[in-house]
Amino acid sequence: MVRTQLQRARDGEITDAMERVAEREQVDPRYVREQVADGQAVIPANVHHDALDPMVIGREFATKVNANIGNSETTSDRSGELEKLHAAVHHGADTVMDLSTGDDLDAIREANVAHSPVPVGTVPIYEALTRVDGPADLTHERLLSVVEKQAEQGVDYVTLHAGVRMEHLPLTDDRTTGIVSRGGSILAQWMEENAMENPLYANFDDYCDVLVEHDVTVSLGDGLRPGSLADASDAAQYAELETLGELTAHAQDRGVQVMVEGPGHVPMDEIRENVERQQAVCDGAPFYVLGPLVTDVAPGYDHITSAIGATEAARHGAAMLCYVTPKEHLGLPEAEDVRDGLAAYRIAAHAADVANDRPGARDWDDALSEARYDFDWRRQFDLALDGDRARDYHDQTLPGDNYKDARFCSMCGVEFCSMRIDQDARAVADGEMTDEREHTDLAASDAAVVNRPPVGQHDTSRVPDLPADVDERTTVGDDADVDTDADAEVERGD
Ligand code: SF4
Repeated sequence: MVRTQLQRARDGEITDAMERVAEREQVDPRYVREQVADGQAVIPANVHHDALDPMVIGREFATKVNANIGNSETTSDRSGELEKLHAAVHHGADTVMDLSTGDDLDAIREANVAHSPVPVGTVPIYEALTRVDGPADLTHERLLSVVEKQAEQGVDYVTLHAGVRMEHLPLTDDRTTGIVSRGGSILAQWMEENAMENPLYANFDDYCDVLVEHDVTVSLGDGLRPGSLADASDAAQYAELETLGELTAHAQDRGVQVMVEGPGHVPMDEIRENVERQQAVCDGAPFYVLGPLVTDVAPGYDHITSAIGATEAARHGAAMLCYVTPKEHLGLPEAEDVRDGLAAYRIAAHAADVANDRPGARDWDDALSEARYDFDWRRQFDLALDGDRARDYHDQTLPGDNYKDARFCSMCGVEFCSMRIDQDARAVADGEMTDEREHTDLAASDAAVVNRPPVGQHDTSRVPDLPADVDERTTVGDDADVDTDADAEVERGD
């Protein structure tokens, strides 16, 4: 019989996954066990996910980032999805959610799980809906069978919008943007047409039984999250949160690992209250937030509007950030959008970790700043969060190899390069001072792995080779080889 990480932690056991997580976070394994046992952290690790390199999600650990991938009924196939998975892992996703709603759902999901060193999440109601004519035709039995099948396929966590209840629906009537969660809107329609309570709520124990059987973590979805600033922090959102608090305790009592999803669109000045309220209501269960977007006026740039909110949320205790791409509200993201969204969110997560004084988090910044002041362009590119882009931008105007040793770039030009002027003024030209300066030793840093370059560091030794029809060159660019010694045994997630 499978015992979940939560059950084993409560029994006092330090599992292999906890040991591995402790190594990646640079903490004592006993601390990981305590956090999991208390429900303050989760290790999404389905027992059937052979390629997984375990990771932890919790407010006391480095902030994590999720990337959504998946096809729609109009776009992408299995090869395209594997390219997105490859790009997501390469660019630093700590987990991926397969939100496919188009063709070949099982083949895509099975391929994603087989090739993913990071936890894979899903929203099972999406698949369930593809099997019927409309939301009203869904049944508890069909939903449960989909959850069961996906658990057997090795999915590590599932979003269940079990907190949307009939009594909450009237609270959304006066909203500007109604119900914007796909799962929330499907379930609302089901409840209205069938005049019955949400089947995920009414039969929650049945789902818990399946989740425990495979150690699938539940991510309690926020089906009533606000879809605009106008609807943020309203009665519907907070009524659902109360139910999520109730379900958190219930699932944990049954041995299920739990995290809780959050908004959405929230003005900057309300984000802290949102996070602190979730932490209080859900007794510290990891908070997994989508953004939030801090303004509604910038479609095409919502990776930026939301990364601002995500930084604030993580600063105040959100444990994982679900990325948003520039295509949000506009279309299905392509591999390049995945890259842009992940860059924005790795920045948000790292900025929060620096501000929260996570051990060693600042070392990466210091090392890059030192390389910048030293005009060590190659090291600067190697250390950059997206070194390929940094190198490309630099080379657009100064492509020659000789410019990799130049004491200027094209931004200010040789005459006005302030760093060169400053060095000259301090009589430290020709590298005299920079050679002598003490440099940050990233190999000795006590930062969690996600706070050291390069991003996308996972043990990929159990990941099979990509199928021949997957063009990884279109997704990842050239590998930057950074020698941080401490990570020598860890391969890039590609
Ligand atoms: S030219 Fe300007 S931007 Fe470029 S390295 Fe010098 S100070 Fe920095």
